Amino acid sequence: MQQFQESVYDLIVQTSTVLPADVRRAINRAKEKENAGTRAALAVSTISDNITMAEEQLSPICQDTGMPTFIIHCPAGANQLEMTRQIQAAIVQATKDGKLRPNAVDSITGTNSGDNLGEGTPVIHYEQWEREEIEIKLILKGGGCENKNIQYSLPAELEGLGKAGRDLDGIRKCILHAVYQAQGQGCGAGFIGVGIGGDRTTGYELAKKQLFRKVDDVNPHPDLQKLEDYVMETADQLGIGTMGFGGESTLLGCKIGAMHRLPASFFVSVAYNCWAYRRQGVTLDAKTGAIQEWLYEQGTAQKMTDPEMNDVHEPDTEQRREFKLQTPLSEEDVRQLKVGDVVLLSGPMYTGRDALHKYLVDHDAPVDLNGSVIYHCGPVMMQEDDKWIVKAAGPTTSIREEPYQGEIMKKFGIRAVIGKGGMGPKTLAALQEHGGVYLNAIGGAAQYYAKTIQGVHGVDFMEFGIPEAMWHLEVEGFAAIVTMDAHGNSLHAEVEKDSLARLAKFKDPVF
Ligand code: SF4
Repeated sequence: MQQFQESVYDLIVQTSTVLPADVRRAINRAKEKENAGTRAALAVSTISDNITMAEEQLSPICQDTGMPTFIIHCPAGANQLEMTRQIQAAIVQATKDGKLRPNAVDSITGTNSGDNLGEGTPVIHYEQWEREEIEIKLILKGGGCENKNIQYSLPAELEGLGKAGRDLDGIRKCILHAVYQAQGQGCGAGFIGVGIGGDRTTGYELAKKQLFRKVDDVNPHPDLQKLEDYVMETADQLGIGTMGFGGESTLLGCKIGAMHRLPASFFVSVAYNCWAYRRQGVTLDAKTGAIQEWLYEQGTAQKMTDPEMNDVHEPDTEQRREFKLQTPLSEEDVRQLKVGDVVLLSGPMYTGRDALHKYLVDHDAPVDLNGSVIYHCGPVMMQEDDKWIVKAAGPTTSIREEPYQGEIMKKFGIRAVIGKGGMGPKTLAALQEHGGVYLNAIGGAAQYYAKTIQGVHGVDFMEFGIPEAMWHLEVEGFAAIVTMDAHGNSLHAEVEKDSLARLAKFKDPVF
């Protein structure tokens, strides 16, 4: 087993940096559906570029490399304790090399272990089998989409769809509702794994296991195959689109599994995965630990198609204005902006997410934030010759800062926040009152945004851990779309309302 650790390291690097071919094909299909010039087309084109950049630089596709979850099949007698030790060593090395972000946070103290090891992490499931080789599958699923997982207990009353009973039609409604509730916060267009039955724990496990299926496989159970096909034909009609910008492509894959349940329970569990669907697997020689075979067609076999958008559909009706702005921003700068505008920012900006927002409510800021831009981002950083280098820096889900954002903007004079998925009515009211704007960056486009960062001029609150620290960045041409403006408009609220009305059209029984 002398090569086992090295093989696991290769598996981690490949999973984090190169999207498999089946996922790329699904994204290429989404690209073909979007109309040229729309926000959704721009978003999916950025995603496409980002996938290619990550592959070329062998850098993380998205900065949130999730909770590494391994499913291992091994022959009887394989030393699981030794395998666990070598997997942990490979995880530590991949973290040091900037292929994984340090993501293991002590739930009580809030301390980040810094090396991705901790109580319960990484997740490793062992199962014995009768074959001679070892099979390892790995999924890296980030927090933004993990937070959009959802579990239903049937019968239930569902927003837009009414009663969902304990039958195939009830399950159908749960799945459509799961896609609807994710909106843009899970970095769609996404993939879903569905687990029918089990208890609360095994139902979610079954849902997650579905994410290891190939995008183009066919469900062997005829009823589930029918349901998968129905969901794939229907979900795009919700019009949520890439990043929740509204558009033609909302769901890229749906895989459903079923298990027995208790008479009293009927759970439908849905695991939502973003477009950055990072899962790979290998078989290993059980004696040496050397890689024998890759389980999913490697990404290098399927290039991303030319980012030029298809324009055979309806003409673009979205009026797009573009603004090049220098930070710090004035009130006038932001009040001129309207939903749909593209903004290219240059100058200083600061990262800030959960820990910083909570801190700033009760304390002073370490720097003057008047006119500043706060970027909801937990980057992957590496130190080289005493200099910090940004390895990956896409946006994180903004809605978590909803309780704090408006208050902090007003208290410090912040003029813009950048994130993904949008924010709620409290922030929208503050933008209007104070003169601020919410800019939506493309979720997961970690390499694309890292390239716009010209330098790191400082850092505060390293005690919060690398993802939560306040990084002082200098950017050039950082592009984002105005999705909430100072005039009370929110694209997120609009898309949510419109998609709820579309969801209601699928209220009547189908199965
Ligand atoms: S693409 Fe979005 S949801 Fe997926 S891991 Fe990255 S930030 Fe999270």
